[in-house]
Amino acid sequence: MRPFTSTISLEEARRRLDAHVRPIDRAERVALANATGRVAAADVVSAIDVPAFARSAMDGYAVVAADVAQASHTSPVALRIVERIYTGQPPRTALSRGACAEIATGAPLPEGADAVVMVEETSPGPEPEAVLILAPASSGQNVGRRGGDITTGDRIVAAGDLLTPSRIGALAAVGCADVEVFRKPVVAILSTGNEVVDVTSGVRPLAPGQIYDVNRFTLASIVESHGGVPRSASPVPDTIGALADALDRAAGADIIVFSGGSSVGERDLIVDAIAQRGEMIFHGIAVKPGKPTAFAVVGGVPFFGMPGNPTSCLSNAYILLVPFLRATARLPAWTPRTITLPLGRRIVSQAGRHQFYTVKVQNGVALPAFKGSGDITSLSRADGYIEIPATESTVDEGASVTVTLF
Ligand code: AMP
Ligand code: MG
Repeated sequence: MRPFTSTISLEEARRRLDAHVRPIDRAERVALANATGRVAAADVVSAIDVPAFARSAMDGYAVVAADVAQASHTSPVALRIVERIYTGQPPRTALSRGACAEIATGAPLPEGADAVVMVEETSPGPEPEAVLILAPASSGQNVGRRGGDITTGDRIVAAGDLLTPSRIGALAAVGCADVEVFRKPVVAILSTGNEVVDVTSGVRPLAPGQIYDVNRFTLASIVESHGGVPRSASPVPDTIGALADALDRAAGADIIVFSGGSSVGERDLIVDAIAQRGEMIFHGIAVKPGKPTAFAVVGGVPFFGMPGNPTSCLSNAYILLVPFLRATARLPAWTPRTITLPLGRRIVSQAGRHQFYTVKVQNGVALPAFKGSGDITSLSRADGYIEIPATESTVDEGASVTVTLF
């Protein structure tokens, strides 16, 4: 055994991680239909006015406002209907005084018209090709002016903007078929341990002492959910040679995440592999679960050495990897939902370690759900977690706790 030499606080771990984020620089063009949740890599400036023509905002009659400035129910103004304008159809005639055009919502306003009277404020005229205007109109009324939404030269999205549905809509409105976005960071994922069994090429029964690989899938799931591209490989055994080869294979990634072998046992060789190939930034964090976590830089690439215990691994993936990955991907920080509830049962926490204690929300209370660091059901049967700072060791039943939901 080689005990942890310098376990650091969660805050210090977060500081060191922040200092090693390298936001992605590579960009690619993607079709607008595939751009949801991506981050714009360049400003997009509109080459057109939207709308590109003055248009009616109502079904009604395009008029010269001055003709109907005094119109009312008691003194209606009769106008001659010179044409009917539907959407997508350019008007054929310019309006002169005393004339109007029946017009649909979204149809282009004819030359000479400067207002639209909605159909509800009209009645049929004395002859078929006439209408009675029953309410006054002012210039610009019910008219969407050319460029009223977007003007040529307007910036539609800025580099660094998250492409939300509405921004994708703005890009669509100016005729963009595709958009330049930052590439998703590639995250190399690898489970280590002689006992860990690959299921990707078919499930085999476990030999004595073996377990199925969990971390490969939880880590890939986290990476995919937070803007990265997981690239996982088959587990490797606990030999320094296998770890060194695996590090070489992972070298092209933006982030490397290994699990297992990060603790202090004889077979926990991550530390030795890092000593050969990279620079250790920290090893050991005062958190529970997840103390045996290492962070290093290997060949210029950030490297996470996660604990093998599935709950420790996933918990630290939420707490440490997600913020790091999102910053690398240039995504906004993740703000999980929280709810405040009374605790359903007393919890005793280990003093000196910041504890993430999983809970299930049931009947308005937070019930402790943590079983053990090795039990994936500590997380899979929980709805979220509460945090117990290193300085506290018990949380009493009934105490108000803030649950961070997964
Ligand atoms: P380690 O961090 O290598 O000391 O492993 C701690 C515990 O987690 C051991 O019981 C391992 O068998 C288990 N473990 C390690 N890697 C995985 C994995 N990929 N999936 C599930 N359990 C694992
Ligand atoms: Mg191991």
